[in-house]
Amino acid sequence: MANVIAIDGPSGAGKSSVSRIIAEKLGYLHVDSGALYRIMTWQCLEKGIDTTNPEAVALFAAELQIECRPEAGRIAYYIGGEAPGERIRMPEINAHASEVATVKEVRDKITSLLSAMTESGNLVVEGRDITTAVFPDSPARFYLTASAEARARRRQKEEIEKGIASQSEEDVKASLLKRDQIDSTRKHAPLKKADGAVEVDSSFLTLEETVMAVMDNLPDSWK
Ligand code: C5P
Repeated sequence: MANVIAIDGPSGAGKSSVSRIIAEKLGYLHVDSGALYRIMTWQCLEKGIDTTNPEAVALFAAELQIECRPEAGRIAYYIGGEAPGERIRMPEINAHASEVATVKEVRDKITSLLSAMTESGNLVVEGRDITTAVFPDSPARFYLTASAEARARRRQKEEIEKGIASQSEEDVKASLLKRDQIDSTRKHAPLKKADGAVEVDSSFLTLEETVMAVMDNLPDSWK
């Protein structure tokens, strides 16, 4: 059975950077589960599916083929042989991804894709329901959080670096908080700290310190 390090938390808490570094240190595959919800959202918008209509989204999700392939230390995703790239990081996708993620059929499909990834090797999986619903039995489960201000500041910096920033820090913060609100109040697999998960608040930690806080709490035989 593969080892799975499961990391959940709100938007912008640093899950991606932390997960990527830990995966690299341990030789595990990095799995960005949010990217699957973003791909689903991007494809809905491309094909003109109304993301506020759960029935339409569920029908579309059933048909959409997402190829998941281990590649260069991570699980890479392809739609019709094409990598989505930065298209799924645009503010328009941020605004609709949480709506799409409320649809049970979407969640079931993505959960089964994620569960099958253990066949590719040991994983670091980040998301919103990894510790509660996808891999609730993992002995390495973490809830990574930070203040809304710290999260907005980091997310805006990231967007500037990727060349996709057009929003003020205030707008980024409002968008993060709106997603957090939808993610933590939805009916199916809401974002919450799982019983037994280790909470790490990164508001006043550097990236390296946050990575160490997670690494220190892994089972000894995994380090
Ligand atoms: O992590 P990221 O911000 O890219 O995720 C985009 C959206 O996908 C989240 O706001 C959330 O609505 C949804 N998501 C989810 N469950 C996950 C990962 C992401 O519902 N495991």
